[in-house]
Amino acid sequence: MARWGMLIDLDRCTACQACVVACQVENNVSPGGADQAELGRAISWMRLVPFQEGGHEHGTRPDLRLVPLPCMHCEKPPCTKVCPVKATQIDHEGLVAQVYPRCIGCRYCTTACPYTVRHFNWKRPEWPQPMEQGLSPDVSVRPKGVVEKCSFCHHRLQQAKDKARAENRPLREGDYQPACVETCPAEAMVFGDLDDPRSSVSRLSESPRAFRLLEELGTKPKVIYLSKGAWGGEV
Ligand code: SF4
Repeated sequence: MARWGMLIDLDRCTACQACVVACQVENNVSPGGADQAELGRAISWMRLVPFQEGGHEHGTRPDLRLVPLPCMHCEKPPCTKVCPVKATQIDHEGLVAQVYPRCIGCRYCTTACPYTVRHFNWKRPEWPQPMEQGLSPDVSVRPKGVVEKCSFCHHRLQQAKDKARAENRPLREGDYQPACVETCPAEAMVFGDLDDPRSSVSRLSESPRAFRLLEELGTKPKVIYLSKGAWGGEV
């Protein structure tokens, strides 16, 4: 059984936000509009957040950068523990799923998530014409009043499994890639099975540059970052 994880190399990331746009389009995330953004209600399953690396020692300067932030699909997710109706659960492959028909919009999960990657739908999702005609048929449009978040493009996993089954072969590395990973022009993102010692994501996660956000909380994120560090991009 796979344990899906993502690795983001901050030495390669140029903060171009192609991943943000790819995620928005792939997952039918409503643009919300300027009025909602002004109220702090813009929804983005993947966003770039400011991050300071280094600069803690005397005489050193901090390196400021923008870091892509999807759901961490934590191995010990605090969000799933507080949901009173089990609308969010971690599955057997380590993906933290959101079951929209079960969600009652109480937002305990948004409060429990230390990475602030969960979003409440304050209004009925709508798209300016003709964008509505470009919605993906593989992803449901979430109604007003539920919480949504990054799924690691879970629908793509189902499609990859179906294709592998039709070709009578096991799932291979690269068969399942979230839209953000596939789109990144700098190839800063790697995705795969963290339990497969031969996978790129598993090997890179052992790099001395590897770190996880807010590791001290014990959430065990499955999104791993590579710092720029002193290695100049070499692993
Ligand atoms: Fe839950 Fe937040 Fe962890 Fe995602 S990052 S699994 S929403 S606690």
